[in-house]
Amino acid sequence: MVSRIDLDGNPIKPLTICMIGAGGFIGSHLCEKLMNDTPHRVLGLDVYSDKINHLLQPGDGTVLPWGDRIQFHKLNIKHDSRLEGLIKMSDLVINLAAICTPADYNTRPLDTIYSNFIDALPVVKYCSENGKRLIHFSTCEVYGKTIGSFLPKDHPLRQDPSYYILKEDASPCIFGSIEKQRWSYACAKQLIERLIYAEGAENGLEFTIVRPFNWIGPRMDFIPGIDGPSEGVPRVLACFSNALLRRQQLKLVDGGESQRTFIYIKDAIEAVLLMIENPARANGHIFNVGNPNNEVTVRQLAEMMTEVYSKVSEEPPLDVPTVDVSSKEFYGMGYDDSDKRIPDMTIINKQLGWNPKTSLWDLLESTLTYQHRTYGEAIKKTMSEAIAS
Ligand code: NAD
Ligand code: UDP
Repeated sequence: MVSRIDLDGNPIKPLTICMIGAGGFIGSHLCEKLMNDTPHRVLGLDVYSDKINHLLQPGDGTVLPWGDRIQFHKLNIKHDSRLEGLIKMSDLVINLAAICTPADYNTRPLDTIYSNFIDALPVVKYCSENGKRLIHFSTCEVYGKTIGSFLPKDHPLRQDPSYYILKEDASPCIFGSIEKQRWSYACAKQLIERLIYAEGAENGLEFTIVRPFNWIGPRMDFIPGIDGPSEGVPRVLACFSNALLRRQQLKLVDGGESQRTFIYIKDAIEAVLLMIENPARANGHIFNVGNPNNEVTVRQLAEMMTEVYSKVSEEPPLDVPTVDVSSKEFYGMGYDDSDKRIPDMTIINKQLGWNPKTSLWDLLESTLTYQHRTYGEAIKKTMSEAIAS
């Protein structure tokens, strides 16, 4: 492998990275990237390894191109004394572990708060005490609602970017009332960000905080009844994929009016790799990572996914592809929503020179091709078994 150089022209030394939550959606893509394109080693920690099993040595004598540069440690960071030792063996810690599906925020608020705040505390502490660099995954949800959302619907200032663009160093964090338990996740993530920032200021912790804006792609979440609980509610990409695969209507929560910017996981992973390999430019920063050019309402997303899926599956769409549902019916009491999420890109541009590339259509085409290929047959089989029984 040719030696790698950082953005300032210095050679990059191979790192040992302790990746907590390596078996999840983002972790699996990051592990793949690190194995395929870099000399770094990964100590992957998670409760599950299904999404990275293809990267681990199969044990039948076959040697994968990256050899033993990736090791998996099956553990729960809530209660495992191996955590500190694994952090001590590493040059860099990346913490991805979290409960991060909105259906859990109002129905399992205690688990959500524990997972996103309490369980992250020892990770921050061990990094600080042992002088290890930390890249911590937060969320764009820490911004909450936009300032503009409090203006009347037809107010001209709603069109003014300063009322909706989300800036790391300037935008406030605006959450709903306590009984809107949706915000338990955002609030826990905000507090761990503040704690990490304070560890940096008072104890010299070297940190980078990542705020992902709706990263999507293959291996995100699960398809209910196939590789996840049949009653489970994943994030929107998997909810809509599941409905398309089963030829059911896509459910639009509260009219599907909320807006999101979606970014292709592979673009986002490029940004994370720049952070890993350019500590001098990334330390002490909070980075928005999203694609401001890919904004749609959830209704528009449903329409586009229906069209793309019809193309990749070569099946005509339903006559009425969507149906409206209330958030109370879909998520239960205490749900609330972020109205609009457009990331400001100034800081990541200036520090890392990074920009997203993939259009929404292209990323949906490759993702839905994957969903169709991976799940199409399994779903047909479970549906025909259900009819036969
Ligand atoms: P994910 O659920 O696919 O991955 C999280 C992984 O952490 C899972 O594999 C899970 O098993 C593991 N984990 C959770 N608790 C654990 C514990 N106690 N011990 C060991 N492992 C544990 O989610 P993701 O989409 O890959 O997200 C990763 C991070 O990025 C999370 O912190 C999430 O809040 C943040 N994030 C992601 C997005 C996105 O667009 N995907 C958006 C905002 C924030
Ligand atoms: N949503 C929807 N139908 C679904 C799943 C989600 O209308 O089947 C909406 C949800 O209410 C939110 C948006 O899609 O407005 C994005 O939801 P997601 O779960 O992906 O996470 P979020 O972006 O809110 O963190």
